[in-house]
Amino acid sequence: MSSKKTVLITGAAGFLGSHLCDRFIKEGFKIIGMDNLITGDLRNIEHLFPNKDFVFYNHDVSNYVHVSDDLDYILHFASPASPIDYLKIPIQTLKVGSLGTHNLLGLAKAKNARIIVASTSEVYGDPHVHPQPEEYYGNVNPVGPRGVYDEAKRFQEAITMAYHTYHGVETRIVRIFNTYGPRMRLNDGRVLPAFIGQALRGEDLTVFGDGSQTRSFCYVDDLVQGIYTLLMSDYHMPVNIGNPDEITIGDFAEEIIKLTGTSQKVIYKELPVNDPKQRQPNITKAKELLNWQPKVSREEGLKITYDYFKSLSKEDLYAKEHNDFKGYIKK
Ligand code: UDP
Repeated sequence: MSSKKTVLITGAAGFLGSHLCDRFIKEGFKIIGMDNLITGDLRNIEHLFPNKDFVFYNHDVSNYVHVSDDLDYILHFASPASPIDYLKIPIQTLKVGSLGTHNLLGLAKAKNARIIVASTSEVYGDPHVHPQPEEYYGNVNPVGPRGVYDEAKRFQEAITMAYHTYHGVETRIVRIFNTYGPRMRLNDGRVLPAFIGQALRGEDLTVFGDGSQTRSFCYVDDLVQGIYTLLMSDYHMPVNIGNPDEITIGDFAEEIIKLTGTSQKVIYKELPVNDPKQRQPNITKAKELLNWQPKVSREEGLKITYDYFKSLSKEDLYAKEHNDFKGYIKK
């Protein structure tokens, strides 16, 4: 019998899930990757298929999750995570954050496994406290368009804490701020893929509102390192993982124009409802408890990401632009 520890990663075919699979393989774990492929893309993990330490289950974790193997760790990263996605599939978004999390906490309890759940800066809503420390309770509109995601994630944190205190399950909660890198979908509406896709197609870059809203972008490798360190730590309260380097969306568009060398310009569109005005993580906790902080500058990270999209074949680029993954699975 193999002495390797086994980890279940939900959302394995997604942007973050697939990078986590790579990291845990590198660390010598056996991986069970799970995804229902609604927003995931098998292309993100196909390089792992020949690996004997990787198996993939096509399953929706909002339904009962059965795993016969012993499990040491569970990483719950299944969820739509962009405003366009959760407007398109609001009920699934609510279910995976609530019912899905409940199923995985139950599994963690049955297997005596440690579980980390992917929470989000969206639990702070449109924040009145800036930058956001973990102690801030947030300013969330439960019935706005983002409510299905924000409230599912807030419920997820509540039920995770309840399993910790009531059942003694070993739980971890990571609050993820805006993250970017290779393998993002180009059509999920998030700002970085939107701008890069527009630059690649020779279209103008669409800035929503007047572009004065801020975000703080973290490169995916930094995020994965933060998640790994938090999972292996003994801290069960929520921890922000993100890059505090804050920028306005208007300036961000200018950076992308410079990076891609596009001759297109910025055009302004209506600001979506409840679009947070500002967002920046306070990462004091991560620094002090985990000795973690981001290492990759936006300049470096954006270059790697742009090079990735430029290197894709026509077919792969089409899939990233149209979410055309189902045809791929049939092959
Ligand atoms: N945004 C934009 N143009 C786009 C897509 C997004 O100006 O084509 C803005 C959006 O309104 C928001 C910011 O960029 O203020 C980040 O949006 P994203 O959807 O990436 O993430 P979130 O709002 O969840 O942080």
